[in-house]
Amino acid sequence: MIITQPFSELVRLALVFLCTTKLTIMKKTNILLLLMLVFVSAAFSQLTPLKNTNQLNNSSTSESCGFDHVHNMLLNSNADYRQRTEDFNNFMKSYNAPKSGATYVVPVVVHVMHKGEAVGTGSNISEVDINQGILQLNERFRKIPGSLGDGNGVDVDIEFALAVRDPNGNCTNGIVRVDMTGNSTYMNFGVQAQTSNGITDAALKATSRWNTLEYYNIYLVSEIDDNECGFGIQGYAYFASAHGQSYDGMVQLGCKFAQSGNTTLTHELGHAMNLYHTFEGDNNGNSCPSNTSCSSQGDRCCDTPPHIRSASNCVTGTNSCDGGSSKELFIHNYMDYSSDACQSEFTADQKVRANAAISVTRASYLAANGNMACLLYTSDAADE
Ligand SMILES: [Zn+2]
Repeated sequence: MIITQPFSELVRLALVFLCTTKLTIMKKTNILLLLMLVFVSAAFSQLTPLKNTNQLNNSSTSESCGFDHVHNMLLNSNADYRQRTEDFNNFMKSYNAPKSGATYVVPVVVHVMHKGEAVGTGSNISEVDINQGILQLNERFRKIPGSLGDGNGVDVDIEFALAVRDPNGNCTNGIVRVDMTGNSTYMNFGVQAQTSNGITDAALKATSRWNTLEYYNIYLVSEIDDNECGFGIQGYAYFASAHGQSYDGMVQLGCKFAQSGNTTLTHELGHAMNLYHTFEGDNNGNSCPSNTSCSSQGDRCCDTPPHIRSASNCVTGTNSCDGGSSKELFIHNYMDYSSDACQSEFTADQKVRANAAISVTRASYLAANGNMACLLYTSDAADE
C-alpha cells in the first residue's frame, strides 16, 4: 500500500466522509473500524524493519555501494572533511603527475568483526580467504597479466599489504579478530550505512582500530543495514580526506571478501584513493552529469565519459550523455555500477588522482613503511 498523503490528513478525510454521508450508525461504525484496521496495519508495515533481501534489492533507493550516502553526510556535517575534499579537487586542476614509476605500498589491517564462530567458519572468515581477497585486490590495482585485473586499463601502481608489525611493534599477520557476541544490535543487524538498522559506523570503529595515520583499516562485517550479507549495500569507504581521522577505513560484507570476481574491495579502495563513481553527478541515475569541464565536474577524470550509472549488468550500445560514444568506455570501470563480471579497469586519469591521494594526502602510510618489515627482538639487538 502506498500512502501519498500525511496520515493525519487521511484520517480527517475519512471522518468528513462519514459525517456527511447518510448511513446508519451501525454502518458508520463498521466503516470506521475497517478504516482504523487499514491505517494501523499500514502504519505498522512502515515501522517494520526490512529483513527480506528482496525488499532491499527492489527498493528504488537500493544501491550496492554506500559511498555516496556516507560521503555526502560527512560533506554536510564535517567542515574539515569538506574543506580537505575541496582542496584536493582544486589541487588536482593544476597537478602534474610525476613521470617516475613509483609503486606505493599501503599497509592494511583487516578487522574481522565476527559473531562468535570458530576461525574459518561463518563471519569469522579464514586467513586463507583474507589473503585471497587482498591478492585479488592487488591483481586489479596492478593490472597483473593473466589475472582478473588484466583488462584494458592501466597499472595504478598502488599495492595493499597486510601489516607485519602491529602498533606496539609486535609481529602480526595484519588480521584482528573481534568477537561481537556481546553486542546484540550488531548480532541482529550488523552495521548501519543507509538505515538505522545496526550499530553506527563510529561504534564499529571504536571497537577496533589501528592508528589511522599508519595503517588503512578494513572492517569485514556480518551484515550492513540488516541485509544478512545479501543484496543491498556491499561496502563503503571515505575519501582520503578522512586520513588520520577516527572514522577513516573501509567496511565490507565479510562473506563476499574472497569471492573470485567480486570487485567491491577494489571499488571501495578506489573511493579511499579519492576516486568518485564514474557516473558522479547523474542525479541518482535520472539525468546525465554536467560535462562542460571534465576536470571540475563529474568524476573529475577526463578519460571517463559522463554517463548514467549502469544497473548491475554489462550493457551494450551507445552513451546518450556523450554524443553516442560506446558504453564500452565505462562499463568495464571498477567505479561504475555495472556487474562485477564486466569490471576490469581503472583509467590513466583515475591513476593520476589515486596516486596523488596516496603520495600527498595519505603520504604518512609511506613514511611508516616500517609496518611492512617485522624486526624480531633478539638478544644481539638488545646488547647493542
Ligand atoms: Zn561506490
